[in-house]
Amino acid sequence: MTGGGEFDFIARLFQPLAGEGALDLRDDAALVAGRAGYELAISTDTIVESTHFLPDDPAGSVGRKLLRVNLSDCAAMGAEPFGWFLNVARPPARDEAWFIDFADGLAADQRRFGVRLLGGDTTGTSGPLVLTATILAWVRHGEALRRNGARVGDDLWITGTIGDATLGLAALRGACADPDGSLTQRYRVPEPRLGMRLHGIAHAALDVSDGLVQDCGHIARESGVAITIEAASVPLSAAARSSGAAIGRLLAGGDDYELLLAVPPSRAAALQAEAARAGIAVTRIGRVWEAAAGGRVMVLGADGAPLALPRGGWQHF
Ligand code: ADP
Ligand code: MG
Repeated sequence: MTGGGEFDFIARLFQPLAGEGALDLRDDAALVAGRAGYELAISTDTIVESTHFLPDDPAGSVGRKLLRVNLSDCAAMGAEPFGWFLNVARPPARDEAWFIDFADGLAADQRRFGVRLLGGDTTGTSGPLVLTATILAWVRHGEALRRNGARVGDDLWITGTIGDATLGLAALRGACADPDGSLTQRYRVPEPRLGMRLHGIAHAALDVSDGLVQDCGHIARESGVAITIEAASVPLSAAARSSGAAIGRLLAGGDDYELLLAVPPSRAAALQAEAARAGIAVTRIGRVWEAAAGGRVMVLGADGAPLALPRGGWQHF
C-alpha cells in the first residue's frame, strides 16, 4: 500500500467483487475455513499485455480471460473453484475507466462461475500491464485429476473444438477472416470446461493451453506412455473449417482451453453421459500406447500415415 489513491482505487474497483473470507479487502490476509474431506487446489496464471492479450482488447474481456484461464486449470484438476486473488501491475496509461470495464467483466464472470475475490496486490509499473490471478478450488480428497494417470489402451478425448483461438488471434492481426466474430471471441473469452464429474471416469486430464500436440506431450511424459492423435477426428468449428487453415496449424496453436482426457474404452459411455449432463461436447481423437523409444506423440493423417507438422516442440516415434 503506497497511498490513499491506491487504497481508494482498490476500494472502488475491487471491494464490490469481494466475498466471504475477504474481510472486505481491509485486512492483511483473507481467511478461508477448511472443508472436511477436501483438498485445496491452488493455481495461478499471469497474463501480460501484448503477449496474452492485445493492448486494445476490451477491458471487460481481458478480465474475463484472466479469470477463465485460471478456472480452466480448476476444470483440469476436477476441482470446484470458489475464490481467487488478483495482482495488478498498472502502467500509468491505463486509466480508471479501463479498470471499471475490467471489473465489470470480472463481476459478470464471478456470478457465472460462482467465485469471489479474496484479495490481491496492486503496484504501479513502467512496463506493460501485468495481471495475475490465483485461484482456490475444492476437490474431494484423493479425487484430483492428474496428468500422470494415462494408461496403455486408454482413448484420448477432447472437449469443444480446437484451433479457434489461434485463428482468432490471427484475425485480430488481420491475417485471417472471421465473418461472424466467433474466432476472435474464442481468443478473447475462453470457455472453461467446468461442471463434469470425471473422477472414476478419466485416468488423466489437462487443459490445452499451449497447443494440442504439445500438451498431449505433457500427459505422455508424465504418464510414461505414447499418444497418437487422429487428425481427421479432431473437432473443428464451422468457422475454423471454412478458414481453410492447415490442420497442423490448428493442432499447434494455443489458447484453446479445452480439456484433454485419457479414458479407458469401458468408460466411454459414462464420459459421454457426464459430458451431456454438463452440456459439454466431447470427441474421441486418439489413443494411448506403450511408450516407444525416441518419441511420445504422433499425429496420424486421414490415411493413417504420420502427418508432418509445421512446428517443433514435440517428438515423433
Ligand atoms: P499490504 O501493503 O499491507 O500488503 P495491500 O495494500 O497490499 O496491503 O492490501 C490491502 C488489502 O487490499 C488486502 O486485503 C489485499 O488483499 C487487498 N488488495 C490489494 N490489491 C488488490 C487487488 N488488486 N485485488 C483485490 N484485493 C486487493
Ligand atoms: Mg500487499
